[in-house]
Order: sequence, then structure tokens, then C-alpha cells
Amino acid sequence: MQQLKNFINGQYTLPVSNNWIDNYCPANGEVYGQIPNSSKDDVAQACRAAKNAFANWSQTTIEKRSRILLKISELLEKNLQRFAEAESTDNGKPISLAKTVDIPRAASNFRFFGNAITQFASESHESVGFNAINYTLRQPIGVVGCISPWNLPLYLFTWKIAPALAAGNCVVAKPSEVTPMTAYLLGELCNEAGLPKGVLNIVHGLGSTTGQAIVEHPDIKAISFTGGTATGAHIARVAAPMFKKLSLELGGKNPNIIFADCDYDDMLETTLRSSFANQGQICLCGSRIFVEQPIYNQFKTDFVARVKKLNVGHPAEATTDIGALVSKPHLEKVMQYVTIAKEEGGTLLCGGNKVLVKGFENGYYLEPTVIEVPTDECRVNQEEIFGPVVTLMPFTTENEALTMANKVKYGLSATLWTNNLKRTMRMSQQIQAGIVWINTWMLRDLRTPFGGVKSSGVGREGGFEALRFFTEAKNVCIKY
Ligand code: NAD
Repeated sequence: MQQLKNFINGQYTLPVSNNWIDNYCPANGEVYGQIPNSSKDDVAQACRAAKNAFANWSQTTIEKRSRILLKISELLEKNLQRFAEAESTDNGKPISLAKTVDIPRAASNFRFFGNAITQFASESHESVGFNAINYTLRQPIGVVGCISPWNLPLYLFTWKIAPALAAGNCVVAKPSEVTPMTAYLLGELCNEAGLPKGVLNIVHGLGSTTGQAIVEHPDIKAISFTGGTATGAHIARVAAPMFKKLSLELGGKNPNIIFADCDYDDMLETTLRSSFANQGQICLCGSRIFVEQPIYNQFKTDFVARVKKLNVGHPAEATTDIGALVSKPHLEKVMQYVTIAKEEGGTLLCGGNKVLVKGFENGYYLEPTVIEVPTDECRVNQEEIFGPVVTLMPFTTENEALTMANKVKYGLSATLWTNNLKRTMRMSQQIQAGIVWINTWMLRDLRTPFGGVKSSGVGREGGFEALRFFTEAKNVCIKY
């Protein structure tokens, strides 16, 4: 059984704490490794390494930083199979998804920010009439903390680390304790790519110990966090007295609004994906489906028929559409919502049961589930389930759809299916979300701002937004 170590100052390092946590394989429910539950001392060691490395890294030329990030990207692509297997084993996602989405995207993150930093410019203003010119310095912050969740492990881990490093910061990062494997492997690629020691430090452990220690450490001046809304609120409270800069990417309960005038076949295929990709464990999944009355019954029949054909199976099988959920507690939480739905008067149109995959009966498998709800105000329609469960409801007017879409505490993304341009313009302005997709889903261009409103978070990642977050703006005014 493999014991993972922290990656501190360019070396795989045993935890001072000598506390260990079991790591489970979701596909079979067995423990297959251990990770450190790093203590304050481990985090302090990582912070010291990062602080020592900062003077050099922040003064390293943009060209050299860029070259190192591009090299890491290249190495990830070279190691695609190994990383995809590790991600799939650790998370339960189909290997096909890890191979086509997760790992390629992690490589893209390094490539994108390796290039973006060479184009990152700051402003200058000539103060006419004062004989003065103002210009803005964009300086790296120093040591920053990056904390990421389990659903897209390396994809989201690198989405933070790459811009932080590109901008000249040194990083103390913690992947989710549930999916530590690919972050662990990344350390050796960083060494191979020539990333100087101490620039990136990776500590493993629980949120309440290791994560908390990162948030509390006085040398960490900014925190980029992706995870649950309750955790985000807690981090904001802990960090507030130290005035740390925060970027919080939190939960979602995204509406998928389908109008009768849409391209039906395209909508059906995409809705299948937006509902159940990665076992519905993507913050952007469209978990509330609202369908315009004239096509409601047709959609219900066609959608449920398609969902029933999805193949739940072992993540390593090429034929698997739906793999295992990430953990036993998570499976139990998701299944609890099926019970709640029934108690609230919802109709289970399909799914809702645990699946026993032959030979892997202890794995965390659940049928993809569609629930017709009597009202948009019920709990399954309001609370984030974060699993292969979607709700379904009809609507009659655009206004009704908009009201229901906005009547949740979250505001991450929304999808609209319509060919009516005026409606598209009206609704995309009024929908409360950080991202609106029209006639598509999860089409990502890394230059665009990414983030949520309301309880889905504060701040934006992506493109120059991320580079702005990871730098301090300093205005210099020169009178001549
Ligand atoms: P989580 O909040 O439980 O954990 C996220 C990370 O925070 C983990 O690394 C965890 O160890 C750490 N953590 C937990 N408690 C902490 C503390 N007190 N201090 C510091 N760190 C702490 O979330 P999760 O269950 O891993 O992920 C699922 C959630 O993430 C869902 O709500 C999902 O919507 C959200 N998510 C959001 C986005 C987005 O971009 N908005 C993307 C993916 C996932």
C-alpha cells in the first residue's frame, strides 16, 4: 500500500505529524493508500520553503517562468495515460473522461497561463495638466494558498496553481484528501520541468487540519479556494481578521431551461451530458431542468429513455458512462436526497438505487436519477446534491422560468435552449449566474472569466482575471 508524502522544497517529505489518513478506491470501496494528515508544523515547513523561494522566483524573467510552465504542460501530456489511470482510480470517474477531459485540461491550464503571462499588461495614465504620469505595477503577492476539491482533482488544482506561479508567486497547495493522487504525481513533473525548489509545495490532509492551517498561516497572503459553500464561508471568516485576499469558487444548483423552439436533438444529447457527466459531480452540471409546456411530455419520455440506457460500471471499462461516486459518505448523502424527494411528493421517473457492479459490489455506484418535482421550492430543487440526480419541472412563460431559475441561493451557471435571439438577450441579462450558456454546455474558453454570484462565490478565475487575483496592483505617480 502506497504512503504518499508531502512535496516540500522540491522533495517528497514525510509529515512531521506522522498522522495518516486512508485513501479509498471508489470503484471497489477498498483502501489502497494513505496520505499524511499534515499538521500546522508541516504547513509551516511548506510556507518557509515558499517564502525562501519567493525572492528568486518573483524576479525570474517572464520568459523563463513561461518556459517552465509550458514544459510542465508538455510533461503532463506525455504522462497522460499514467495520470488518467491515477485520477480514475482515485476519484471513480470513467477513465475515458480522465483521458479526454481532466488530464488534457490540466495540461491546458499550464499551457494557457504559461502563454497568458507573456501578454499580461498593466495600465498607464497621463495626468494631463499636472505634468504627471501614472502607471500600475502588477506585483506578485508572495506566498499564496490554493485549496481544491475532489470532483475534478488535477483540473481544478492546476487551474489555481498555474496562474499563481505564472504571476511570480510561490504556492502552498492542498488537494482534496479524497483525491490526492494526481497532485502527488505532479511534484515529480515540476522537478523534471525545472521548477525551482520551494516554488510549489503540496501538503496533504484533512480540511479541518491541513486546510485550516493554510488559511491561518500569517505568511499566506491570498487564498484561492474551490469547494463547498459552507467551507467557503468558514474560510472567509477565518481569513477576514488577517485581511487575506480571497477567491472563492463555491457550490451551484444550475438551471437548464429548455424552450420549445430549441434544436431538440442537440438539446437532448447535451442535457444528458450536463446532467450526468462525472456522475453529476461537476459544479456546472445542470441539476434543475425546466421544460416549456408544449414539449414537456415529449422531453420527459425521450430523456428518461436515454437515461435508462446509460451504462453504470467500473471506471476502467471503456463502455462505462457513469462510474462510481467519490466516497461512501457522499453516496449516502446523495441517496438521502432520493428519500427526501419521495417525502416531498416527487415522482421518481428513473434511478434512485444503488448499483451492484459485478466483482465490485462494495463500490459506490448509483443509478442516474430523474425526479419530477411538484414545486420548485422543494429541497431537492433548492439544495446542492452534487451527484447523478436531476429534477424536472414544466413551465409556461419565460417569466416563470426566469423566476424559478433565480429562486435559489446559488448563482454559478445557467443553460438556455432556444433559437429566439431576443429572448436569449433578455434572459442572459436577467439570469443570476456568473456563466450563461446558450444552446451548449461547458464549452470553456480559458480566456473568459469564471465564477459565481450569490452563494456560488466571490471573485473570478480564468484569463487575466486570475492573473489580476494573483498580483497586487500598485500605482506609481511620477511628476515630471
Ligand atoms: P469541501 O468544501 O468539502 O472541500 C474542498 C477543499 O477544502 C478540500 O481540499 C478540503 O479538504 C478543504 N477544506 C475543508 N474544510 C476546510 C477548512 N476548514 N479550511 C480549509 N480548507 C478546508 O468541498 P468538496 O466536497 O471537496 O467539493 C464539492 C464542492 O465543491 C461542491 O459544493 C461543488 O459545487 C464545489 N465546487 C465548486 C466549483 C466552482 O468552480 N464553483 C468547482 C468544483 C466544485
